[in-house]
Amino acid sequence: MSGIHSLTVAEKTILNIGFDDTDSPSGMCTTFLAYKMVGELSGQDAEFLDFPRLVRFNPNIPWKTRGNGAVSIRLQTGDPSGIKRRVRRMISRYSDTKNGANPGLVFLEGGRIPKQFAEFGSMALWRLVRRGDAKKFARQNGLDHTWMGNGQGLVGAIGAIGYDFGDHTLELLSYRRRSRFGTRRDLSAESVRAMQKITAPDTFSSFDTRKGRVMIAPRGPDPVFYGVRGEDVAPLLRATEILRTSEKLDGHMIFKSNQGTGDHLRNKLDPGMSPYSSGTITGSVSAAPRILRGGHVMFAVLSGGHEFWCAVYKPTGMTSVAAGLIPGDRIRAGGGVRRASKRFPRVVNLEFIRVILPARETRISNPPCKSCGKKMKSKGRNQGFECVKCGRRHPAKVRATVRRKVKRRLYLPDVSAHRHLTRPLQRMGRTNTARFDGSPGWFCVYEK
Ligand SMILES: [Zn+2]
Repeated sequence: MSGIHSLTVAEKTILNIGFDDTDSPSGMCTTFLAYKMVGELSGQDAEFLDFPRLVRFNPNIPWKTRGNGAVSIRLQTGDPSGIKRRVRRMISRYSDTKNGANPGLVFLEGGRIPKQFAEFGSMALWRLVRRGDAKKFARQNGLDHTWMGNGQGLVGAIGAIGYDFGDHTLELLSYRRRSRFGTRRDLSAESVRAMQKITAPDTFSSFDTRKGRVMIAPRGPDPVFYGVRGEDVAPLLRATEILRTSEKLDGHMIFKSNQGTGDHLRNKLDPGMSPYSSGTITGSVSAAPRILRGGHVMFAVLSGGHEFWCAVYKPTGMTSVAAGLIPGDRIRAGGGVRRASKRFPRVVNLEFIRVILPARETRISNPPCKSCGKKMKSKGRNQGFECVKCGRRHPAKVRATVRRKVKRRLYLPDVSAHRHLTRPLQRMGRTNTARFDGSPGWFCVYEK
């Protein structure tokens, strides 16, 4: 019996398919291609072993397409070459190479993902990985791969297969019918607010209640109608029932993602501050904040004997916190490195500030009267101070502790300034353990 069993196992191949950079600023979208691909492969000899994975990479790379997200699909098939043929055809058909897409496609057979893939994936999360490095990786590992344009998409294609999820979230992306691409999205803001109220904290970052802004609908020609982020399948499907639109949608697919995990900020920033790298620093504020034109705030942090310049941009909503810091404040902060400008060296563009220990701030002022509590008046140079009410005297000014506005806590940007990877407040300390169980609902093409 065991002989027959191993024979049937040997007939099936686990196939990992990674692709990226099929989209361009004028439309198309790598996740939409994934949706089409799952639709086509569903009719073939293919059993999906996981949600399609939507992996967001280093958000601080300047030439990223909109979200810098790549997709990988893991399936089991008795016909790997047939599946590969279909996938290749779809990549070349759907990729927007005319408008600047630089697709990369990688196939990896086998259930175990070699260690170097995971390493490549985590590197692409916080560093600048050049396409040359990806091409070299593909050659050295004898990968079955293809690329078009300049091949930048190979970085994400390899990374998406290798990405090692510690924590993860899910995102349900709904897609428009082709005839509606580029038209205005009619999505009831009130229904988004209601959906968040009902499904959070099992969904997150759908509606910015402070600004009254819908966070789930992209703008522009994107085929995505909305994307709801959450922890598990059930609350996401529930969300689709609550959201209201008059538009007939094409369908939806649920992706497993590193969105909302903050995983790009797990590593420490190196003192060299390689341009476009992401990470965190822990240290003491060494140069007092200054407010720049436009309301942005700059200050410096001394960490491990190196001074890191930090910038907090106005749209983050964290500028008043940054402006309230003083030298000596112990903080942990994270973000991406920006290139040097004429006026400033390389700066870390901050995505969070955690105040670990606020410094004691003191101010020298006229002494208060111990009887009346009123501030005393100066009697003139070197003449001491006197209370105007009761005449009590004090020889000199005093130093008093000032109440700090900055508190010992974590400060995050406004929800509407969050990036895909930002870990929102409600996900702090949370690790998602929901697994793919193949139950229906994660992929659905709606009836005409
Ligand atoms: Zn007095």
